[in-house]
Amino acid sequence: MTYICINIKYTLFSTSIEGTNQIGAGIKNFIITHHHNLVAAIALIAFSVVVLCSFDSGQAMVQNPLDLKAEAVPDSLLEKMSNTNNYTLSGSILPNEGFTNSLIAIEGINIGHAIELSNALRFHVDFRFLKAGEKFKVVYDSTKTKIVEFEFMPDVVTTHKLTKDSSGTYSYKEISLPVETKFRFITGKIETTLNQALLDNDIPRSTSQVVNGILECVVNFRSDARVGDQFTVYMEEYYYYSKKLSGGKIHYVSYEGKRSGFHEAFRFDDVDPLSAYNAHYTKDGKALIHSALRLPIDKIHVTSPFGGRRHPVTGKRSFHSGVDYRGHIGDPVYAVAKGKIVYSGYDKLNGNKVVVKHTDGTKTYYLHLSKRLVKKGNSVVARQQIAKLGRTGRVTGPHLHFGIKSSKGKWVNPLLKRMIATPKLKAEKYARFLTQVEETSLKVNEYREKNKIFTLSNL
Ligand SMILES: [Zn+2]
Repeated sequence: MTYICINIKYTLFSTSIEGTNQIGAGIKNFIITHHHNLVAAIALIAFSVVVLCSFDSGQAMVQNPLDLKAEAVPDSLLEKMSNTNNYTLSGSILPNEGFTNSLIAIEGINIGHAIELSNALRFHVDFRFLKAGEKFKVVYDSTKTKIVEFEFMPDVVTTHKLTKDSSGTYSYKEISLPVETKFRFITGKIETTLNQALLDNDIPRSTSQVVNGILECVVNFRSDARVGDQFTVYMEEYYYYSKKLSGGKIHYVSYEGKRSGFHEAFRFDDVDPLSAYNAHYTKDGKALIHSALRLPIDKIHVTSPFGGRRHPVTGKRSFHSGVDYRGHIGDPVYAVAKGKIVYSGYDKLNGNKVVVKHTDGTKTYYLHLSKRLVKKGNSVVARQQIAKLGRTGRVTGPHLHFGIKSSKGKWVNPLLKRMIATPKLKAEKYARFLTQVEETSLKVNEYREKNKIFTLSNL
């Protein structure tokens, strides 16, 4: 059976700064063709999702947990579509739940269908950035048993659409409405807190959190922030007609105070939008927050998040002590920070396992490896390859289970953990970063000159 996906994306070009804009719409098409025995793949992946949950939490294995036969969805839950004989079932991402769990939670949906849809979309959508409330819609045919379409709408301009043909093959399309990008500078003085100053400038809370997160790495707000300190943010904002959309890349942040001194942070855009290196750095390339330099693999696709999750079959809650990253057998696995190997061995449950103890007492865990490249007692540096990704232990598919234990012995969420060390961009990435720094600095300086804003950097 053939698995075909088509990705249509409108690429937007925006050339101006502040206010006036030009939009050019281009269309990027690419077709990726995979050959799969779809049914077997779905059954295997679905089965592994279910089984992995129970293994990771140390629970007993569930025998044959899936019922892929679907019963008709009750009429009371469906909405009839106009102009077709199809019906829709709607839902949204639940707080603190992943995609699959949010789908399974829809009343009336068949679990097999939910997992099938989640796995089909997983190839195209980065499930790391899900937000509660994002909507999806399952479209059934007139029998109310067969899925014909599925739509996931993370925002008002984006629809990820899966269409199922009669042979059971899903094709994928991303539909993006034209979005206008506006560049915006925000400067201000601190009267109470930076957060308040940003909110006063109509910066959404999610963005101000990112700005705060970046600056917290370089400024000790508790001891060094003062009334009258000055900040600058240079960012992108997106509009659909006059409606401002959420999100927006932050290209630059600076903070300056008598006590804190002058600090600035620049965004690095790697070639691949999924690259773990897309993040903010100091001018000399030192990683600030959200830096994926601290991540253990090159490409980040979380297939199972940290924390409590509802078991798809038993409905029981279980605890997942780390995150699962999808990958291929043999993919390099890196130490996320400098440290010492305190365990390198094999056991039936975890397979090949490596544990690194870092200088601050934090320990990181790498499980299910196909090959361990370090021995107990070895010292490692950040980003050093310590193993190869695998599928050893009680798992059914290749992935890396990555866990972080605090110095107090408590499991923490690896996706939220701040830097353990501060690695730097190197070589070719650093060179590209410097070009981006130059471009950004040019715009920032232009803006400062035009508005007569003086900082320690341009005095
Ligand atoms: Zn796991």
